[in-house]
Amino acid sequence: MKLIFCPGCTDLVRLMKEIRFCKCKESWGLYKEDGLHAIIGGRSVPMGINNFRFCLMGGLVVGDEMPLSVELFRISADSDRIEWGNLEELQSKDKLTLGIGIAPAVKIEDSPEDSS
Ligand SMILES: [Zn+2]
Repeated sequence: MKLIFCPGCTDLVRLMKEIRFCKCKESWGLYKEDGLHAIIGGRSVPMGINNFRFCLMGGLVVGDEMPLSVELFRISADSDRIEWGNLEELQSKDKLTLGIGIAPAVKIEDSPEDSS
């Protein structure tokens, strides 16, 4: 699980597949569509939490089974899973060419069977 730490406001933000900002908006980041590589920018310091501690046998660990502590570590800024991006470019370019997820607008309609 990747997060960004902002040295400006000391916010810690979990990355998702859409652009997320820290409290002061000086740091930002998002996951690429593969959910593994991330694009970050601004003052972001890339951080990670070992997913293994939260998952046991492929399922999410909750409640009393959750670990009492997890290790938060800094990801090297030159990691091949981290890419520094340009925010304006990201917000203007065709997101599909960048491998960034777009939440599709889904319209739920009644099926013809139900309307008869
Ligand atoms: Zn900030």
